[in-house]
Amino acid sequence: MDPVTTGAEPGGIRYPWPEPPAEGAATEIAPGVLWMRLPLPMALDHVNIYALRDSDGWTIVDTGIRSRRGIALWERLLAGPLAGLPVRRVILTHHHPDHIGMAGWLMERCGAELLTTRTAWLMARMLILDEEARPTPHALAHWQRAGMDPEIYAARKDARPYNFADVCAPLPVGYTRLHEGDTLTAAGRDWDVRIGGGHAPEHLTLWSRDCNLVIAGDQILPSISPNIGVYATEPEADPLADWLEACDRLAQHAREDHLVLGGHKLPFTGLPLRMRQLIENHHGALRRLEAHLQSPHTAAECFGPLFKRRIDAGTYGLALVEAVAHLNHLHKLGRITRRLRDDGAWLWQARER
Ligand SMILES: [Zn+2]
Ligand SMILES: [Zn+2]
Repeated sequence: MDPVTTGAEPGGIRYPWPEPPAEGAATEIAPGVLWMRLPLPMALDHVNIYALRDSDGWTIVDTGIRSRRGIALWERLLAGPLAGLPVRRVILTHHHPDHIGMAGWLMERCGAELLTTRTAWLMARMLILDEEARPTPHALAHWQRAGMDPEIYAARKDARPYNFADVCAPLPVGYTRLHEGDTLTAAGRDWDVRIGGGHAPEHLTLWSRDCNLVIAGDQILPSISPNIGVYATEPEADPLADWLEACDRLAQHAREDHLVLGGHKLPFTGLPLRMRQLIENHHGALRRLEAHLQSPHTAAECFGPLFKRRIDAGTYGLALVEAVAHLNHLHKLGRITRRLRDDGAWLWQARER
């Protein structure tokens, strides 16, 4: 769900606000545009949310996960920086729990309406409803195919898996679809809706026509590369192709003066360079991976060349789905082959050249 690989960060990228807003407080990024933060109980320990002010109320972009602490913090925000105007709309950039978890709560608490892409809405609604007490046979098969570490597999096999329902409020029926090319008005500005992909299907981004702001969700992040993962829902998917296509397309709109408001980390400038890095990170990873596959390996045996750092228990799951994404991509390109090992794991190997 969340970023796992680290990106380089040379001089061209700048962070006008070195410190994030304090808990329950907001930083005014520009007139009518507030930046707030909510905590996450994982390695990536926070998510950014934004509030756009109009005379008739707030538009909130992304919402954090649902937890007792999250609810208390939202109440503080509503009584603090957001006081005096109703929350009229909630926009979700994509379907991941750290972004959608409190959307249903805000809709109920404030009477807000929901806007997002159709795929984000369908994925969010499906995954919140799809509650599993134990991993499905399909999830187990997906982990085996990836060559999951036997100890981790044994521990996860009979445990309650990660359920959206555990960290997301129920999402009521009814939303407004945002499409590529739509224009949305918020905070007294017109925003072009541009759709990304790869990190999450039909990922929404907003590009102001009237100022230098880009609200990017997890499509464009500074200092960490958004996670590109293959899940049991679509084991043969090639999200890396979607990612590279989206980056190429969005990069054409990137300007030096853009101030990018992402779903994690700090607001930054230097978008043209960052777009090149987000693309090149993966080309570099693919080159290292193909060299590593001169001898056959499972996905779980590809962490070294892919991530160039130690993968601990907290990031193992994200690393595994990201490894499969890179392998599926090379496989679709015809650059590697695969065969099933006796234990059900795919062994991937580079084609002879
Ligand atoms: Zn996120
Ligand atoms: Zn995400």
